[in-house]
Amino acid sequence: MKELIDKLHHTQELTREEFLTLLSNRNTETDLYARRLARGVRQKIYGDQVYIRGLIEFTSYCRNDCYYCGLRRSNHAAQRYRLTEEDILSCCQQGYELGFRTFVLQGGEDGYFTGERLAGLVRHIKKQYPDCALTLSVGERTEEEYRAFWKAGADRYLLRHETADETHYRILHPEPLSLQHRKDCLRTLKKLGFQTGAGFMVGSPGQTAETLAEDFLFLKELDPEMVGIGPFISHKDTPFRSREDGTLEDTLFYLALVRLMLPRALLPATTALGTIAPDGRELGILSGANVVMPNLSPLSVRKKYMLYDGKISTGDEAAECVEQLRKRMETIGCCIVTDRGDYKK
Ligand code: SAM
Ligand code: SF4
Repeated sequence: MKELIDKLHHTQELTREEFLTLLSNRNTETDLYARRLARGVRQKIYGDQVYIRGLIEFTSYCRNDCYYCGLRRSNHAAQRYRLTEEDILSCCQQGYELGFRTFVLQGGEDGYFTGERLAGLVRHIKKQYPDCALTLSVGERTEEEYRAFWKAGADRYLLRHETADETHYRILHPEPLSLQHRKDCLRTLKKLGFQTGAGFMVGSPGQTAETLAEDFLFLKELDPEMVGIGPFISHKDTPFRSREDGTLEDTLFYLALVRLMLPRALLPATTALGTIAPDGRELGILSGANVVMPNLSPLSVRKKYMLYDGKISTGDEAAECVEQLRKRMETIGCCIVTDRGDYKK
C-alpha cells in the first residue's frame, strides 16, 4: 500500500485498479503514512497558512429532493427562511471586520433567487468589498446564469459532484437530477473561469471502493481548484435517517489522497468533519486540508439550515469566535491569515 501512496505522491496519479487496491486494503499504518505525506505537501505549497471563508447560508428553500439533505423539498418539518440583501450585506460587514476576505453564499436551489437577482447581489457585494473574493454555492444553473454571475464579479463556485458513479448518483438523488448534468455544470464553470469546487460526502449510502475510485478519477480529470470532502451525517427527517454516518478516519484518508493527487487544491476541513469529532477540523488540517469555513449567518437562522442532525453552529464554529479558531490552529502550528486565499497556480 505504501508503494501506491508513494506513487500518488510522486506522479499525482493512479489507475482505477490501483485506487481500488488502495481503497480496499488500507489500514491504520497506511492511513497515517498518507496523512503525513499530505501534510508535507500542503506545507510545501501553502506553508502554515490556513485560509478562512465566511459562510453565509442565505436561503433554506430548495426545489430539489436529494435523499440525504435536511433541506430537501419533501422535508415539511424543515424551517425555511431567506435572508434579505440587507441581511447578507450586514453579514459581510461583520465578516470583513473580523478579517474575512472571502464570503461564500450558499443555499438551496431557491427559485426566488433568479439569475438576475443573484447577479445583482454579487455586484453589490463586490462593489462594497472589492478586495474580497466571492464564492457562490447555489447548485445547478444555466450557462447564461453562470456567465451572469461571473460578469457580476463572482470568483469561485462550489458544486460537489457528490459521486461520479451513475448508479450511486441515482441512489442519492431522484430524477430529474442527473450526474451528466452535474458534470456539465462543473465543466461550464471551469470554462467560464471560476475557481471551481467539486467533491463528495464520505460514507454516503451506496458508496463503495468502486464508486470512490470513480470519484478520484473524475477529480483528476476535472482538476478543480477546490475539493469539498466531508462525512455524510444522517438527518432524522430524510429517507436516510437510519443510515450510518461517514467516519473520521475515512474522511481524513480521502482528504490526504486528494492533497497528494491535486497538490494545489483548496481543501476545506468541513463543518461536518467538526461535527463528528470535536478536533475534526484540526485533524483535517493535519491531513492536508488548508481551509476552514466558519459560519457568518445571523444567529437567528443558524439552526434552520440543518443539512444533517447535530450540525454545529455556535462556539468555535461561528465566525464571531475567529479568535478561538486562531488559537486552535496555532496549537497545531498553523496560522489563520487575512487574505482572499486564492488557488496558487
Ligand atoms: N444546494 C447546493 C448544492 O446542493 O450544491 C448548495 C447547498 S448543499 C446543502 C451543500 C452540500 O451539503 C452538498 O453538496 C452536500 O454534499 C452537503 N450535504 C447535504 N446533506 C448532507 C448530509 N446529510 N451530510 C453531509 N453533508 C451534506
Ligand atoms: Fe437542495 Fe443542495 Fe440539499 Fe440537494 S443538497 S436538497 S440541492 S440544498
